[in-house]
Amino acid sequence: MFPPRCVGCDRWGAALCSSCRHGLPRLLPPFCARCSEPLAGPSAERGASLCVRCRDHPLAIDGIRSPYLMEGAIRRAILELKYQGVASLAVTLGRLLHDYLEAHPLPADVIVPLPLHSRRQRRRGFNQAALLAKEVGRLRHRPVGADLIVRVRNSPSQAQAATAEERRANVKGAFQVREGAALGGKRVLLVDDVCTTGATLDACARALKEAGAAEVWGLTVARER
Ligand SMILES: [Zn+2]
Ligand SMILES: [Zn+2]
Repeated sequence: MFPPRCVGCDRWGAALCSSCRHGLPRLLPPFCARCSEPLAGPSAERGASLCVRCRDHPLAIDGIRSPYLMEGAIRRAILELKYQGVASLAVTLGRLLHDYLEAHPLPADVIVPLPLHSRRQRRRGFNQAALLAKEVGRLRHRPVGADLIVRVRNSPSQAQAATAEERRANVKGAFQVREGAALGGKRVLLVDDVCTTGATLDACARALKEAGAAEVWGLTVARER
């Protein structure tokens, strides 16, 4: 088969060449300590550590971290992974998550991909979050609990939900921990490709905590502004 083509510059050789990798749009402080939303304007100047949303509606998840913004080559890489399941991209993006964790460690007794609803997964043929979680688990020598939790309700697209309230309502009760999943006292690292407001990761974290998880952190490759 052909060697992969860089999603950033289209050159043959690697799924993401080293020069494009160095130019990726990093998510830099100031950002919300809980959901990682970039902070700008008065709240950033005041040195606030939480965004307004997290201050008013505390999340169940302990924190969400993303090394990059959903822009440029990272955006193209995530869309190709999501819609075409390019395996070389899962390896590349998984490696970026591993590099991030080396510099910014997060607790992880078990790594759990954010589940897709079974109908959506059948249609797509794969879950991009599971491809990423598998790579992260392999590189960090941690078990991956790919079927500890399932998505029981197929919520409407979060992209179409206008407000944070709508997003939260969309995903309420959407996740169910499998019977017999031994989560008691465990620290779970939830992995997904992209975070928009964190409402979906938070709903999943809530279900994991209700099933006994001690801590739940979210890690996504990119975050929307
Ligand atoms: Zn390139
Ligand atoms: Zn926040």
